[in-house]
Amino acid sequence: MSEKPPWFRCNPLKLSVTLSLMSPSDALVYTVLMLRVMEKSGPVTETVRSLHRRTGLSTKQVTAALISLGSEGHVVALGADRFDVPETHAELARQQTPAAQREYFGKLQRDLPAGWAAIKSMVVERDGLVCAYCGDLAGPFEIDHVVPYSRGGENDPSNLCVACKPCNRSKGAKTPEEWLS
Ligand SMILES: [Zn+2]
Repeated sequence: MSEKPPWFRCNPLKLSVTLSLMSPSDALVYTVLMLRVMEKSGPVTETVRSLHRRTGLSTKQVTAALISLGSEGHVVALGADRFDVPETHAELARQQTPAAQREYFGKLQRDLPAGWAAIKSMVVERDGLVCAYCGDLAGPFEIDHVVPYSRGGENDPSNLCVACKPCNRSKGAKTPEEWLS
């Protein structure tokens, strides 16, 4: 998954309220920095001159906007000419979750994670060779995603259990609650 979700999926209502409370030049500098941070997934290097070029504001206006945005906590200066926009980080983190990735890209490809064999044996060691759903001891067994992988469930032992093949196949992409009801 190399392609990043588009930046404009961040909360548009919150964004428009935030922008409407700013002066036009603050809003312009804020928007440029926010988009750059989104693009880079982290802090960006910009100077007053580069922001002047990007926004069309005078260097004096850019300097004033940076001071005002800094005092409001919208923009954080990390040393000289390096800026971060903390408000973008919640969105960046959200975009990395399986649920958000699925929202953008459709059904996830079921790629087994690195170390899957080790994860699998951890689960078997923890649960024993017994189906978590019906108590079957004969097998064959599979590793079931309690919250289905296709629905954002993680490849983490906390979301995995041992299940017999018939239970696992019958459960499919349902949660245990949906399957048992
Ligand atoms: Zn079973």
